[in-house]
Amino acid sequence: MSVAKQLQKCPFCLEPIVAGATRCKHCQADLSEAGQKKKTRLAKYQTFRVGFLSGLLFSLILALLLYAHFVLDQ
Ligand SMILES: [Zn+2]
Repeated sequence: MSVAKQLQKCPFCLEPIVAGATRCKHCQADLSEAGQKKKTRLAKYQTFRVGFLSGLLFSLILALLLYAHFVLDQ
């Protein structure tokens, strides 16, 4: 299995750099804090999305059960 280096763009000079690098090799910008902030924000968004989707699914099942209940009642 080969480990391919994932590249991302430096937010300051837009040159390709290795993902997870803490310093840009082109403009020497410090990327450690910016990368961590971005990761945290992404994780928060994903947690929110999972919660939202499971809530939506639960509501859908509940609505379906209520609908089936009323249809069978008649
Ligand atoms: Zn750079």
